[in-house]
Amino acid sequence: DIKGTVQLANGVQMPYFGLGVYKTNDGQEVIDSVRYALDAGYRHIDTAAIYKNEEGVGTAVANHAIDRKDIFLTSKVWNADQGYDSTLKAFETSVNKLQTDYLDLYLIHWPVKGKYKETWRALEQLYADGRVKAIGVSNFLQHHLEDLLPSVKVTPMVNQLEFHPRLVQQPLLDFCKKHGIQYEAWSPLMQGKIFDIPELQALAEKYGVTVAQLVLRWNLQKDVVTIPKSIQEKRIISNADVFNFSIEVADVAKIDALDRGERVGPDPDTFD
Ligand code: NAD
Repeated sequence: DIKGTVQLANGVQMPYFGLGVYKTNDGQEVIDSVRYALDAGYRHIDTAAIYKNEEGVGTAVANHAIDRKDIFLTSKVWNADQGYDSTLKAFETSVNKLQTDYLDLYLIHWPVKGKYKETWRALEQLYADGRVKAIGVSNFLQHHLEDLLPSVKVTPMVNQLEFHPRLVQQPLLDFCKKHGIQYEAWSPLMQGKIFDIPELQALAEKYGVTVAQLVLRWNLQKDVVTIPKSIQEKRIISNADVFNFSIEVADVAKIDALDRGERVGPDPDTFD
């Protein structure tokens, strides 16, 4: 069911399915979408300092009948705040806005050159202090991980990356798996572009599901945690309805084969 979780390297249970809130406006819009999601059974919300909606997310979580401890809350340290002291400070700002005193997952948003190792030390400190249940990175390619890993005390538990049928990066998936780093998809629906892919429309028809459900189910069958965004209650509910069907292995391979190395977001090597 929607509460299905994956166990991270340190034993923390991370819900496979969450709600993304990038470009969701702070205030009523984000408050409503988080409420729709929690009502629909989502137990995982993905925000970031740069999304500027942590206050609304915090309000929605605080107002909901579900206990904070039953909700998996992720935020991310923004590029301008990278570095040891500034990351510790950014963390406090985020948890205050989120009206909580801990996070379930804190991520380095992008691999800022010359900064991310110091930033990682701060995340290790927050983890050691019990302020965050799990720590990870985002947008780290294999070479970033190969640079970071030799100097860590704690291996990142998660790597959140752009992932959809047009950008699979199978070698990076395999590398993360080998190192016990859970892969997590951002823009799993390619910010709306997957709906135009005829092969996906045909497969969705075969299984009697929507293109969104097909692609999100494919994420799960690839062992990838996924956090699709929507602000519409109907879509929030239907996107998560992916636990009652299964894609045949041959069709998983067909979706994999749609890979074109095509991005909708920035390239981690040239983003700044
Ligand atoms: P997404 O791929 O989840 O696409 C969201 C868009 O798809 C919606 O705005 C809507 O237009 C459309 N959509 C959603 N459900 C639909 C449905 N059922 N039918 C038709 N259209 C539908 O895009 P995203 O928001 O960029 O990515 C998801 C989340 O990933 C973000 O909200 C954010 O939390 C995270 N993210 C992280 C990073 C990072 O650098 N770590 C970058 C981008 C996004």
